[in-house]
This record gives sequence, C-alpha cells and structure tokens, in this order.
Amino acid sequence: MTDTLDIKITKTQHSRLAETDFNTLPFGKVFSDHMFVADYIDGEWKNFEILPYGPILMSPAISALHYGQSFFEGIKAYKHADGKVSIFRPDKNAIRFNKSAERLCMPTLPEEVFVQSIAALVDIDREWIPGKANHALYIRPFMFATDPFLGVNPSATYKFVVIVGPVGPYFSKPLRVKIETHYTRAAEGGMGFAKAAGNYGSSMLPARKAAEEGFDQLIWTDAKEHKYIEEMGAANAMFLLDGTLITAEAKDTILDGVTRDTVIALAKSWGIPVEERKVSVAELIEGAKNGKLTDAFGAGTAATIASVASISFEGEEYFLSDPQTREFSKKVLSTLDDIKYGRAEDTNGWNYIV
Ligand SMILES: *Cc1c(COP(=O)(O)O)cnc(C)c1O
Repeated sequence: MTDTLDIKITKTQHSRLAETDFNTLPFGKVFSDHMFVADYIDGEWKNFEILPYGPILMSPAISALHYGQSFFEGIKAYKHADGKVSIFRPDKNAIRFNKSAERLCMPTLPEEVFVQSIAALVDIDREWIPGKANHALYIRPFMFATDPFLGVNPSATYKFVVIVGPVGPYFSKPLRVKIETHYTRAAEGGMGFAKAAGNYGSSMLPARKAAEEGFDQLIWTDAKEHKYIEEMGAANAMFLLDGTLITAEAKDTILDGVTRDTVIALAKSWGIPVEERKVSVAELIEGAKNGKLTDAFGAGTAATIASVASISFEGEEYFLSDPQTREFSKKVLSTLDDIKYGRAEDTNGWNYIV
C-alpha cells in the first residue's frame, strides 16, 4: 500500500495502548502511539516519517502562530467485525485538503500521498481502533507554516502532520440549537469553504455565548442578511421539509462536507428529492410550526448524524418531533454505520481498506 511512498518508520519502545482506558474516550484527548510528519522544503515534500507521537520543537516566530497559515482535515477509520480496517472516503478529504491549501496560499499535497500517509499511520496504529459500536479512530491531518519570519507573506516551509486517536460518540443527546443572527462564521469571498484553523478560533466566542444561554450548538446564518441557514457549528445543517432534503449549497461560505455529500447520495438513491439551495430561516420556522419540518440534523465526520431537538430563533424555541421517531435520519445513520463497519455491501466504493 505504501510502496510508492518512502516512509522512514521508527516505532515506539513504550506503547501506551495497554494503559489506555477505552471505556472513557473524551473526544480528541487520547492519541495513539505514532504520528506522521513530512516537511515542505525547497518547493517539495520530503522527509516522510512515522515516529512516536510527541511534541514538535518549533521557533516561536513561525507564521502559523502569528498569521494563521494553518488548516486541517477530519476523517475516521473503522474496525469491522472480521477485523478488517477501513477509512471512509479519504479521497474526498484529499481534494478538500488541497482546496484549503490553495486558499491559504500553502502548497498542495498529491492526493495519493495524502491517502497513503494516513493509511500507513492507521496501519501501524490499527490496534488503537476501538471495536465498539459508534466508536472509531479519528484521523487529524493538518498543515502549518514553519518559516520563522514575522512578515505577512506566505511561508516557504511547511509541515504536514497526521495524528490519530480512538473516539466515541461526539454528542450524547439531541441538540437544542440557536439560530445565530449577530455573529458570522464566513462571508462571501472569505475562507468558509476551507478547514482553516482561523474559522474555528472565531467561532468560539459565539459558541460559548450560546452555551451560556443553554444551547448545545448554534446555526450560522449568512453574513449579509442573517436570513439564510449556513451551517451548524462544525457540521453541515440538513433538513427534511415537506418530504424534500434541503441544505445550503456548497459555495464559498460553506464547508463541502463529506458526510453531507454522502447523505445527499443516499437520499437520491432512495428517491428522495434533494435541493441544494438557499434555505431561509423563515421557511424552517414555518415548517416547525406547521409540522412539515420532519427532520433536522447536523452532518459531519465527528458529529456523524446529530439530531436537532429544537430550534430557537429570536427568543422563541420551536421543538421538533421526537428524534427517535424520525425515519429519515435514523435510516441515514444506520445505513452509514452498516457501510462504515462493513456490515453492508459498499456499492459506492466509499471504504478504503487498510
Ligand atoms: C468538518 C466540517 C464539516 C463536516 O465535514 P465532513 O467532511 O462531513 O466531516 C462541516 N462544516 C464545518 C464548518 C466543518 O469544519
């Protein structure tokens, strides 16, 4: 699998696997024994290496820290009942990785190198993939600028790093969400479509304020009028309104989610009409009132399919149907899980077997 990519491998002498409690896996806090690192120097990627997970020594002047030339990806690997291991649609993440890189004036990475780097690391740390339902190995590839230079110019050197860790469910219950009409996540011409680190830094204050008001998540609206739905936290917002699956179109303010794309493909295969278009707050509130909004969820790799319990807008909270009774999102989630965990035939070729 890694025959075209020459990776120097140094295995750890002190595996933390035995001492890791797989029954308590707070999201993003537990990391495996190894990491993948590569350098971009003199206009090319080199020094592909898998080594023990640990700190990376850096100059305090690196431009990633000062000017935000930094972005990431999020992918999951799954363990099947027969012991097989698969990564879900990493080719899609490879394409998006390069879109983020281009927007941030950073070097791209050949798609095969991206996928092979991840597969090699997952292979070495495959014992870290939890076998339990709703559990997976979360894969975090990222790139950042490493020139020690305080000038607002693109760096000439970069690091590409991949870290992985076992995770359980991201959300434990259906979400009370608030429609945000003051703060903005992304504006036209900006970098909302990139998984740029800065997008998440700017989301934290609005998210904390929403949490202080008792909400689990917020739904972003368009920067211009705050009338149209964009995304739900770090997941794509999807709705079933009057029998049609609707979601914001993947334009420059929207992250083109792999889960979003997968849900759309499944819906189409089931004959459900799909509309990727402007979704107004008004039509959702109307649908919540007259009962035509029969499903609402966030779609993302980390969140999977996260049911929305209620939507709040201008101080009014609108409760939707009991998530347990929602046919569409339940079918999406179970179908997705069956494919990812190898229980159903992967007719679309979504599983990359390691
Ligand atoms: C990562 C992310 C998503 C979900 O994308 P997936 O590829 O499905 O994981 C959606 N919106 C934002 C803002 C994200 O960062």
